Amino acid sequence: MKNPRTTNALTFIFLAIVMLVCAAYLWRSNSPAEPLEYSEVVQMFKQEKVESFTVSDNTLTMHLREAVHGSTTAVYELYDFDLFYDDLNDLVRQQAQKGIIASYEYHADHSTNWLAILLPYVLVALILGGMWYFMTARASGAGGDRMSRFSEARTHTLSEKDKAITFADVAGADEEKEELQEIVEFLKDPQKYTDLGARIPKGVLLVGPPGTGKTLLAKAVAGEAGVGFLSISGSDFVELYVGVGASRVRDLFKEAAKSTPCIIFIDEIDAVGRQRGTGVGGGHDEREQTLNQLLVEMDGFSANEGVVVLAATNRVDVLDPALLRPGRFDRQVYVGLPDIKGREEILKVHTRGKPLAEDVELSEVAKGTPGFTGADLENLTNEGALLAARRNQKFITMADLKEAEIKVIAGPEKKSRVIPEHERRLTAFHEAGHAIVMHALPNHDPVNQISIVPRGQAGGMTISLPQEDRSYMSKRYLEEQIVALLGGRAAERMVLGDISTGAGNDIQRATQIAHKMVASYGMSEKIGTVSFESGHDEVFIGRTMSQGRSYSEQIAAQIDDEVRRMIATAYDQCEEILKARRSQLESVANYLLAHETMTRSEFLTVVGDRAPTPAQA
Ligand code: ADP
Ligand code: MG
Ligand code: ZN
Repeated sequence: MKNPRTTNALTFIFLAIVMLVCAAYLWRSNSPAEPLEYSEVVQMFKQEKVESFTVSDNTLTMHLREAVHGSTTAVYELYDFDLFYDDLNDLVRQQAQKGIIASYEYHADHSTNWLAILLPYVLVALILGGMWYFMTARASGAGGDRMSRFSEARTHTLSEKDKAITFADVAGADEEKEELQEIVEFLKDPQKYTDLGARIPKGVLLVGPPGTGKTLLAKAVAGEAGVGFLSISGSDFVELYVGVGASRVRDLFKEAAKSTPCIIFIDEIDAVGRQRGTGVGGGHDEREQTLNQLLVEMDGFSANEGVVVLAATNRVDVLDPALLRPGRFDRQVYVGLPDIKGREEILKVHTRGKPLAEDVELSEVAKGTPGFTGADLENLTNEGALLAARRNQKFITMADLKEAEIKVIAGPEKKSRVIPEHERRLTAFHEAGHAIVMHALPNHDPVNQISIVPRGQAGGMTISLPQEDRSYMSKRYLEEQIVALLGGRAAERMVLGDISTGAGNDIQRATQIAHKMVASYGMSEKIGTVSFESGHDEVFIGRTMSQGRSYSEQIAAQIDDEVRRMIATAYDQCEEILKARRSQLESVANYLLAHETMTRSEFLTVVGDRAPTPAQA
């Protein structure tokens, strides 16, 4: 079926083109064919230059004795034939008698071609009328049920391909699947639960960072249970017109009631479910109405009716508490980042149909990708396949996957960008500085790869990878992160005697870490074990603006002092390390200038010492 929206858009584009053509036609027919002036025409007659002429349809065509404007023919569009006749007829007669004008002809036909003149106007009028009709028909609902369709929920049911999604397609999320298994059982056999008088949760909220597979899990629940799946995105409720959101919610639940058992899936529910009464600026009234309607509808159907509402969000902290109370979304399933085993399984799922070379170790890839979400890993396998195809390989090799891994982290290489030599040198020392400092620090993750090929925003990069997944970070670890981040800047100053903006991002991140350590993690001895955060990580405009800081100016100044002190200490430590390892720094930088990239083993060879065994954190 054709999408009515595209059809509408096409109609409008077509109308716009027709109007443009008409406008061009009107404009052209108004402009004179020849820039002659009436006075010039009269002059020509008086100076006896005209040999013969005709007037037809108010167009005066003259044959001249001598060329004017480079031609012996001149054309003039008469504004008023009668005027011309009055002005010149006597003269023309005289000259004709004398033989100066050889011949002349008046076809003073006043009836111009009315159709040609009127047609564009009629067209424009018709088009404007048509547009007006379209708009009023839309707004007033005169064209049948247009308006009511507008407020209908734009639900999507699953395509055939999505229907086949089951828990087997969701890799690694074992706990999450277990939690949802109960919902599946209920949807398959509600009788079992109603007989026991058990109340099945009406709503389950899937919470987790973007790309961790929340949408996928919801589809898998429907696939496992083999029931209907109505999905809608939170942003579908938020429309230009007031009241549409609420009526879409009503409609959604009505539709669901018609096809039990089924799952209603509301993706990105935070778009409508934000805490009420916190918004700044317009539009939140509409959202509140929508949310109220959602609450009403969720209360409206009784438990065990065969409808389960799943919703997904990555910001559970901004949701309205009313949504989370029992009887609504009383159950939350946290969908977290996959661990190393989970990552390997996700990689297996997404390399299923792809030919892998013998050297590919998915466990190795999983090891090198801490912090990747399922979506990142899917992206990685796809990038790997694209790279293999670009190189005309039959199989995806480990090298492709490694390259893809960095591409996913940092964006594609920009090999074509021409970099001046002094800038390359600066980048080489900057990255070498990071790497040497990381290498020297006992608790820092080992250096995995260094590159001075620009990627995305960065001029170069040094990647260090943890040897295992980390669930918390020690104070010493964080301090060393700061030292390593300053390594680039310190190396620039030491070797080149000048500093650059290239370290701006490093310094920003170092400062952020220091600030968190002092103000949120209670890691500063001077400030004490106190946290000054409200618990809301990101700025939630409505709140922070009205709440303000919860601590005094004095404390704020102390925090700033402490952050500055920590950064200064770290910088000193950084300089010390680089001074002691100056020759290593130079060799790494020179290697980078020659080869652009450096793997872990190349790095270890160049610095010529074994990695220090990490002390326990
Ligand atoms: P979310 O809704 O949490 O933002 P999605 O469910 O849309 O994330 O996931 C995006 C893609 O990432 C999925 O289509 C899938 O290809 C991949 N993916 C995410 N998590 C997993 C997983 N656990 N197993 C397999 N694939 C996954
Ligand atoms: Mg999603
Ligand atoms: Zn840097």
